Amino acid sequence: MENAIKNKKILITGGAGFIGSNLCNYFVKNNEVVCLDNFATGHFHNIAHLIDNKNFTLIEGDIRDYTVCEAAVKGIDYVLHQAALGSVPRSINDPITSNEVNVSGFLNILRASTQEGVARFVYAASSSTYGDSEALPKLEDVIGNPLSPYAVTKYVNELYADVFSKTYGIEVIGLRYFNVFGRNQDPNGAYAAVIPKFVKSFINHESPVINGDGNFSRDFTYIDNVVHMNEKALETKDINAINTVYNTAYGDRTTLNELIKYLKEYLSEFDPEISNIEVKYDSIRDGDIPHSLASIEKAKKLLNYNPKYSLKEGLREAVEWYWKNLK
Ligand code: NAD
Repeated sequence: MENAIKNKKILITGGAGFIGSNLCNYFVKNNEVVCLDNFATGHFHNIAHLIDNKNFTLIEGDIRDYTVCEAAVKGIDYVLHQAALGSVPRSINDPITSNEVNVSGFLNILRASTQEGVARFVYAASSSTYGDSEALPKLEDVIGNPLSPYAVTKYVNELYADVFSKTYGIEVIGLRYFNVFGRNQDPNGAYAAVIPKFVKSFINHESPVINGDGNFSRDFTYIDNVVHMNEKALETKDINAINTVYNTAYGDRTTLNELIKYLKEYLSEFDPEISNIEVKYDSIRDGDIPHSLASIEKAKKLLNYNPKYSLKEGLREAVEWYWKNLK
């Protein structure tokens, strides 16, 4: 990637997490990066190699605390807001904490950014905002009713961002991420995402468990496409491209059964025994939608977004990374 953003001071909230740490790695090459994280789900090892970099500052703090947000935005040009509690099941089990972090924490960082005069606020929105809409592909303007507390929080983020841009004039862009995967994504814990969870099962010679019959499909999106999208969102000077939301995806869908097939094939190149591991099927989870596929036309047209990695290309890189890092 070409690194079009230079010599800026960028706050990356949730910078020790999966997507945030990849953003830190990328933007620190040509910018000053401030990473704010409370390590609720992120890990110090994702950013440990940056600690001695003069262009990198870590603030260990919680976005639920307004004074922390105020201190973190001092002198900041751009904010890439990633901090949140992800996972639909987590929000079903504990909606109060998801709301405190994802809504109140979001409002704190947005308010502090507005007060500081931050030039642009780009935030992680979510495909979960499409809720029960069955329309495919997903177009930014056609959403349904949310299916989980998590989806409510992410939709509320969009409403606040829109109101703040209209009321206070801050430039905002929401990126509705679709099932992102790649290096640094945590394979552990009850709320792990499917790709790292499946990879870990295969590497441990355990059967991956699919919820449902495996015919549900997703627009799996490799992390480098997401980094590219964040850069495009910071880069645009087109007034028509800001104060809005964009699907952030590859624009293709893959069923879970197909995903398992590819993972098995790629991992078997490292360990041939993996080809004999069978999959198990379990019941469908609450809040899960059957199919997801993004239209990426809006981002292509207005942001010049051009995702380089297909699912298979991304999976190849991710599998190699997990093989080195999980073994
Ligand atoms: P992650 O859990 O790896 O990263 C989130 C980071 O936020 C973690 O480092 C965590 O410690 C930090 N954090 C959580 N609560 C905090 C708090 N109160 N104060 C400060 N930091 C806090 O998850 P991720 O997959 O990297 O997700 C990043 C963002 O993208 C989130 O907003 C998530 O909702 C959104 N998103 C992710 C996906 C995906 O597929 N991964 C899809 C849609 C949206």
